[in-house]
Amino acid sequence: MKRWFRVFIISIFALAAVSLVVIQFVQTRRTFSISDNMFNVGVSNAMDEVIKQLNGEVMQTATHPATAFNYKELDSLIAEELLINGIDMHPVVGLYDGTQGSFLYSSNPKLEDRLELSPYRFSFQPIGVVSAGQFFIILHFPDTELFLQRNTKLYTYMSLFLILVIAVMFFISLRTISNQRKLDQMKTEFINNMTHEIKTPISTIGLACEMLQDDSISQDAESRSNFIGIISDENQRMRVLVETILQSAKMSNKNFSISLKQIDMNTIIDKVKQSFKLSLSNRGGSITTMLEAVPSTILADELHITNLLYNLIDNGIKYSTDAPHITISTAIESDHFVLRVKDEGIGISKADQKHVFEKFYRVSTGNVHNVKGFGIGLNYVAQVVRLHHGHITLDSEPGHGSTFTVSLPV
Ligand code: ADP
Repeated sequence: MKRWFRVFIISIFALAAVSLVVIQFVQTRRTFSISDNMFNVGVSNAMDEVIKQLNGEVMQTATHPATAFNYKELDSLIAEELLINGIDMHPVVGLYDGTQGSFLYSSNPKLEDRLELSPYRFSFQPIGVVSAGQFFIILHFPDTELFLQRNTKLYTYMSLFLILVIAVMFFISLRTISNQRKLDQMKTEFINNMTHEIKTPISTIGLACEMLQDDSISQDAESRSNFIGIISDENQRMRVLVETILQSAKMSNKNFSISLKQIDMNTIIDKVKQSFKLSLSNRGGSITTMLEAVPSTILADELHITNLLYNLIDNGIKYSTDAPHITISTAIESDHFVLRVKDEGIGISKADQKHVFEKFYRVSTGNVHNVKGFGIGLNYVAQVVRLHHGHITLDSEPGHGSTFTVSLPV
């Protein structure tokens, strides 16, 4: 997916989401206002009925409303009529004498101030009342807001939840597409790098073979051994390369297991060191060993430990711009066989150190320095260490080299 297209899609989605929220807000307000009107009509209808009943039955013989009826009955009559009109609420009820300016009755005397200000005020003049006063039944609904909100809130929350679900799904889809694109890019890069990495040793071996076919060179023992050394080194390089790719793919399988046996690390280090002799001498580099671990034998998988060491040294050489100087040291530290591979190369920044053990991760400057690779070497190394129940740490500073420390339980 092109960048501009992604920006376009995200903008359209953001616009649609904002519009939805605005529409929802307007709709909620409208619903709220409709509910409010319906509520007022309901109260009005209920009170018409209440007053009709009061006038018709209870008040016929009364001389003053204060003595005319049972107030408890008034409360329940109002609640009943409200319920019939769809309002399931118990309001505070007051009987107000407009001429005296005082309450003859209120169901909650503490709320008389509120009652006086309430808009729900219904005038009634009982039939037969001698007193010429103006009387009102006043209702106060403390929970009107809550009652109205209850009806609209559910729909608002449901809509917001649906918008959220759509947004989450949208971003998951975008991320999947983006990951897919990255994977495609990585695959292409992987194939390009692999072709390059395999082509180089093949042409070097081809060249060395041609040289050996030349009589004048093959007669000279030193030149011959030199070219055979080149062939052997390049062959070893290709072997580890193919091995790393194959083993790394195999290790993804849960059933993968290693075959442990007693191996002498000093012998392995020596063997691997030999295979870099030629390439190092061509670049004026060196490998120094400080093998202090006693005993030097550990229970491990020979093939994988050899490849691990090869990968670490190969990286040390690859990522050194000047003559590569590698130091390999071993020691026994708190029941662990510790192997350190130190170089004086370009080093790795703190930010990259967190990722170098991830599969396919390559520091972006790797290509600038024209160093080709797959980004699986260190991931393979980390997996081998994990399978041996050990751990690996990296200590590095850009421009000052790196030290990889592998600790394997003895
Ligand atoms: P690659 O095939 O790219 O070398 P690795 O998994 O071996 O893949 O290494 C991952 C990245 O870590 C490399 O691209 C490189 O940038 C960085 N790196 C690894 N070893 C070193 C080192 N000794 N010095 C500097 N950078 C290194």
